[in-house]
Amino acid sequence: MAREAAIIHSTGYFCDIGTHVFPMQKFALLRERLVADGDVAEQGFLDPPPASREDLLRVHTPEYLDDLEQLRWTPRTGASELPLTTDIVRSYRLAAGGTMLAARESLTRGFGVNLGGGFHHAFADHAEGFCYLNDIAVAIRAVQHEGLVRRAAVVDCDVHQGNGTARLFRGDDSVFTLSLHQQRNYPVPKESSDLDVGLEDGIGDAEYLERLEGSLARVWEAAPGIVVYQAGADPYREDQLGGLGLTLAGLAERDRLVLEGCVRRGIPVAVTLGGGYARRLEDTVLIHLATCRLALALARAVTPPGVSQ
Ligand SMILES: [Zn+2]
Repeated sequence: MAREAAIIHSTGYFCDIGTHVFPMQKFALLRERLVADGDVAEQGFLDPPPASREDLLRVHTPEYLDDLEQLRWTPRTGASELPLTTDIVRSYRLAAGGTMLAARESLTRGFGVNLGGGFHHAFADHAEGFCYLNDIAVAIRAVQHEGLVRRAAVVDCDVHQGNGTARLFRGDDSVFTLSLHQQRNYPVPKESSDLDVGLEDGIGDAEYLERLEGSLARVWEAAPGIVVYQAGADPYREDQLGGLGLTLAGLAERDRLVLEGCVRRGIPVAVTLGGGYARRLEDTVLIHLATCRLALALARAVTPPGVSQ
């Protein structure tokens, strides 16, 4: 029997942040497209519970979590570029719960895809950019804590460096962090991942893919028991906050290198969305849609262990 990738979404991922470059609508649009095009049944999505305080404390400091719960603007919350409301804190807790669920499900199904998350600029003790809670780190710490996985890797292909994730796992040999990003872009300064690939402005598909393939070799060497893939849509050449030159086809090939590489090695993958600020929202949705479809197709193509053909 073929396996199905777990596709995770909560209507609570959306919250009203007014006019903002971050397209909160993309989460629901992506779900709608997956249903409309017959990729996932209406009832086929998993609805995650929010991450608990205990889950978050494996990554974040109690002082920072208190600020979030009490909606306080302090030096810890102040670097956020989003409003601080009950709804938004709930949405980030749900996103963290979603990536935790994606990670757990990936261990039995091969793939877990969170139609949200990828908030890689959140640090242990403070927010940054559009990121309050680092769902990637929360998910890895959860599966490690549960004894399900010992070693993990983060493959972060957002156009912006995964600075929060890099710092959170700095000095931790159990988690290998790769960030492939545009060098001359936010954040400044950058943190040190285990492997950082700072790309020149405007590079196109061929060079990007070559650099990615070389970098992935280091991930495979680290022999992770799970990969969390931050599949940011913002290396796209039409992105408003990015300065790389990837096409839709190039981004699809990027996904293929990461996801097929994991499948070939039997490594479970939890996928998160990350950034995406294309001039046309439809393009951002299409990029994420292609990532989801590839995960679904690859999961179906793999025969689970112990099942004869
Ligand atoms: Zn980004």
